[in-house]
Amino acid sequence: MNWYPRYTGDYMRDTAHLRMEEHGAYCVLLDNYYATERPLPSDSEQLYRICRAFTETEKEAVIYIADNYFPVSEDGVRHNKKADEIISTQNKKSSAKKTAGHAGAISKWGESPSKLNRSERLSLARKKGQHSSDEWEAMKIVLDFTCVICGKDCHEDPVKDHIKPIYQGGSDGIDNIQLLCRSCNASKGPDSTDHRPKDWKHKVERLAKRLAKRLANDWKTPGEPEPEPEPEPKTEPKPTLAEGKPPAGVKTQRKPNLLIDALAIVEYGSNIKPTKADYGRIAKALKDIREASADVTPHEIERRAKNYVTHFEGAALTATALAKHWVKCGNRKPETGYPIQKVQVFH
Ligand SMILES: [Zn+2]
Repeated sequence: MNWYPRYTGDYMRDTAHLRMEEHGAYCVLLDNYYATERPLPSDSEQLYRICRAFTETEKEAVIYIADNYFPVSEDGVRHNKKADEIISTQNKKSSAKKTAGHAGAISKWGESPSKLNRSERLSLARKKGQHSSDEWEAMKIVLDFTCVICGKDCHEDPVKDHIKPIYQGGSDGIDNIQLLCRSCNASKGPDSTDHRPKDWKHKVERLAKRLAKRLANDWKTPGEPEPEPEPEPKTEPKPTLAEGKPPAGVKTQRKPNLLIDALAIVEYGSNIKPTKADYGRIAKALKDIREASADVTPHEIERRAKNYVTHFEGAALTATALAKHWVKCGNRKPETGYPIQKVQVFH
C-alpha cells in the first residue's frame, strides 16, 4: 500500500506519552509495515536499520515502540492488529475492483481511454470500428506502400497508424488507419491529421472486396519457388505452366524457355499466338527482369503479374510494362502483397 488512513484522534490518544524519538520510530515502522504489507522482523538489529537508529536513545525508542505497538506474535514476527485489518480491507477492495474486469473499466472511464491499459484501449477502439485484413492490404496497395507523410517506401516495414490515436479514443476501423513509416509513426505524437489522398475510401473499399473474393476463391498463394528447369534442346516444350499447356503460339522450332512463355501468357493469355517480333520484345523484357531478379521463376512472373493487375487497375498488362515496374520495385520479398503480410501494430 502506498497510502493508509491515519486517525489523528486515535493516534494522539494512543501515543500521548511518547517522546519525540519514539514518535519518529513509530511513524517509520508503521510506514514500513504498510509499504511492505508485511509484519516487522523480531530482530532488533533489523528494526534499527529500518529506523536508521544510531544512538542508544534512538535504539531504545525503537525497541520500546516495537514491543508496545508491534508485539511479536505466534508466527515469530511483529504484528500491528490495526494495520493488519486495514491492509486486509484494502486488499479486498482492490481485488474486487480488478475482478470487475475491463468491461467495467471501460464503462467506468468511458471517454477517457488514456486511463485504460493497452488491451482495454484496443477493445474500446474495436467497439468503435473494426477493419479487416483485406482492408489493410488494400490500403497499403492504394497508398502504393509509401508513408503518407514522408513518402518513404514501406514495403519492408509498413506501420499501421491510427490517425486519431487509440489512447485518445480513436477507432480501429479502416477510416482511422493510414500507412506510415516507422520513424513518422514514432514522431507523430498526438497529431491526428489524415494524410491519405481524398479518394482513398472508394478505392480501398473496392479493392478490399476484390481481395476478399480472390482469397475466398482459394487463390494460389506463393509457396516454394518453382525450380527453373533447364531448357532442353530439340524436345517438345514441357507443359509445366499453371495451365499445363505451353502458349498456343509456341512452336517446336523455338527453343522453349519457360520464363518467356510465362511472360507471353501474362501478356497474351494462353490462346493467342505472339508473333516473332512479340517474342523479341518479351525476351527484352525478361532480360530487364533478370537484371533485377536473377533467380526469377515462372511462378514469380505469374505472381507479380497478378499483383500488377491489382495495383494498376485498368492499365494494360504487357511484358514490357511488368518488367518496367519490376525493375523499379527491385527484388522484393515474395511476401509483398500476398499472402497477407504480418504487420506490426502500433497504437
Ligand atoms: Zn514517413
